[in-house]
Amino acid sequence: MDTMISASILSADFSHLADEIHAAETGGTDWIHIDVMDGQFVPNITMGPFIVETCRQITGLPLDVHLMIERPELHLEAFVRAGASFLTVHVETCPNIYKTLQTIRELGCHPGVVINPGTPASSLDAVLHLADLVLILSVNPGYSGQEFIPEVLPKIREVRRKLDGIQSNAWLEVDGGITPDNLPQVWEAGARAFVAATSIFKVPAGIAAGIAALRSQVPV
Ligand code: ZN
Repeated sequence: MDTMISASILSADFSHLADEIHAAETGGTDWIHIDVMDGQFVPNITMGPFIVETCRQITGLPLDVHLMIERPELHLEAFVRAGASFLTVHVETCPNIYKTLQTIRELGCHPGVVINPGTPASSLDAVLHLADLVLILSVNPGYSGQEFIPEVLPKIREVRRKLDGIQSNAWLEVDGGITPDNLPQVWEAGARAFVAATSIFKVPAGIAAGIAALRSQVPV
């Protein structure tokens, strides 16, 4: 199975967003990750469907949209219409997560489900089979530039086992504090998609160098 790099524009320079995304694309990112925050579920406020639409106009790469918002079911259609490829919702914000994931698929989008560092893997059990992507947060959601929480590694292994147990082809993705140093152990734990913001967009040697450094640490 391939390994995907998903470049989170949370750390991009928004005064040159098109250039930054093009540089990530040329540098070999597989997906563009868009961190949507509402100032309610998480303390920060970031971007909405308008930015997703802007990204859609800039690139043909899959858009990996991560909704850190309360009541995401109210906004699914807007994000799909804006061009999301994956739409990932938190179990912590979805009392009817089963229905929400079904709705995302009915809208023609790949459903994703995500859990915070403090949420157990068992909270995914009832809906794993509905997801095309399972995201494990390895920092507290809200800001880029935080350090990877190593205690999530056993949980990544546990979710890998669960996915293999139901013969799921869903991507197991990890988001938060991914660097070339810790990528190998996260990969060994079973993740095959890696979100990176700072490690791509804030690298002094440049965006392509950041992606190359991450890619060079993927075990083959
Ligand atoms: Zn994210």
